[in-house]
Amino acid sequence: MINASLKQISAHLAAKKISSVELTQLYLDRIAAFNSRLNAYITVNPEMSLAQAREADFRIAAGKAEALTGIPIAQKDIFCAKGWRTTCGSKMLENFISPYDAHVIGQFNNAGAVNLGKTNMDEFAMGSSNETSYFGAVKNPWDRNAVPGGSSGGSACAVATRLCAAATGTDTGGSIRQPAALCGISGLKPTYGVCSRYGMIAFASSLDQAGPMAHSAEDLALLLNVMAGFDERDSTSLQREKEDYARDLTKPLNGLRIGLPKEFFAEGLSNDVAQAVEAAIAEYKKLGASVVEISLPNSRLSVPVYYVLAPAEASSNLSRFDGVRYGHRAPDYTDLADMYEKSRAQGFGAEVKRRIMIGTYVLSHGYYDAYYLQAQKIRRLIAQDFTEAFRQCDIIMGPTSPSTAFKLGEKGDDPVQMYLSDIYTIAVNLAGLPGMSIPCGFGAANNGNPGMPVGLQIIGNYFDEARMLNAAHQYQLATDWHNRVPQGL
Ligand code: GLN
Repeated sequence: MINASLKQISAHLAAKKISSVELTQLYLDRIAAFNSRLNAYITVNPEMSLAQAREADFRIAAGKAEALTGIPIAQKDIFCAKGWRTTCGSKMLENFISPYDAHVIGQFNNAGAVNLGKTNMDEFAMGSSNETSYFGAVKNPWDRNAVPGGSSGGSACAVATRLCAAATGTDTGGSIRQPAALCGISGLKPTYGVCSRYGMIAFASSLDQAGPMAHSAEDLALLLNVMAGFDERDSTSLQREKEDYARDLTKPLNGLRIGLPKEFFAEGLSNDVAQAVEAAIAEYKKLGASVVEISLPNSRLSVPVYYVLAPAEASSNLSRFDGVRYGHRAPDYTDLADMYEKSRAQGFGAEVKRRIMIGTYVLSHGYYDAYYLQAQKIRRLIAQDFTEAFRQCDIIMGPTSPSTAFKLGEKGDDPVQMYLSDIYTIAVNLAGLPGMSIPCGFGAANNGNPGMPVGLQIIGNYFDEARMLNAAHQYQLATDWHNRVPQGL
């Protein structure tokens, strides 16, 4: 059952081969057995999960099941869920119990899915390795000395190890795609505005987007069908007609034009990743696609632009954590200013403080024009590069991450090296485009270290998720990388 697709699980539930309560218990038992080795979950609450499972069983018995009814889904701990502790990976929210549901959580609840627990993440989603979590690093299930990627590393690890049927993530600069790549699973960041950000703790609001993480493209489509949709509580939520993201899965790929950005296959890309990605492209040619070289000349500026804009927005978003209404408050202080200062100094970790300081600096009088305004202009150029590229191709492919999973602690002291892990993903967020990562092989094994998963990144034009899922699904019908499971937990 734990290797079954969401469609198969749903069929088993409908046929009464297993109940949602039994299935939920199965996953809870696996979490109890394995989580201490992996640290994928911050919070599990068996009582609340099983209550939802019982409700789902009634709904199935009443013949009112939908595609995800009764299926246990892990939720990234950035989503507020009513009655659940919601920490965002921070000491600041260590004891925060959310009084309301995020829109995405509400959508899963309406669909009858079971909330299986809250997954570990980099603090306030700032990181590429999950090492900034106040609750400790997540381990990569393929090599527990390696990072799972970040910031949705807990979700990626839980999906890879079958500690949930599927999970959610959020992606501001790569946080769904990069951990999906490093853990050998599939993950999709939709077009900006497709999933409501209501109740999703804000990092950089012009970039943040929720998305699904799962074993296959087919599963992603079913999850996105539930997560997407207009919500008036998020001013950037798009009012579009509801679509079925699974509608094109079975289309053949004949005539698909794949653009390969030459900048993504240049210096900085490790050999083993390049080889796996090139083999995947060869497979696509066999499936009937053609390849064109494209150029994204401004993509080299995406990391510096992002590290002006994202911290600027974060410094504003995180000002709400002041120790007054909710979150950590310092136990001892002399006056109001001292209370703010001490609460924030104690509640935030080092990476979050670094971002707040950068953000405050680039927004300050006298520097705004030089940094923030300049970065906004380059952001526009980066988006235009993609518009230009999509005149020559239908879809863009390349590596998700420049290397396979690196070792825990390897980049902790070097923020710039850490920031470069997102060199191929960040431009997609700056442009607001949809992007996904699917497993496409393994890197080289050396010195007793196992070969680690490689991710193929697929970038689509605005609202082209169905086409991307089609391309991913056809590849997954022809290959079995997405079915590989880490052994020996
Ligand atoms: N790794 C990037 C950062 O640290 C992106 C994180 C994300 O997408 N949430 O900001």
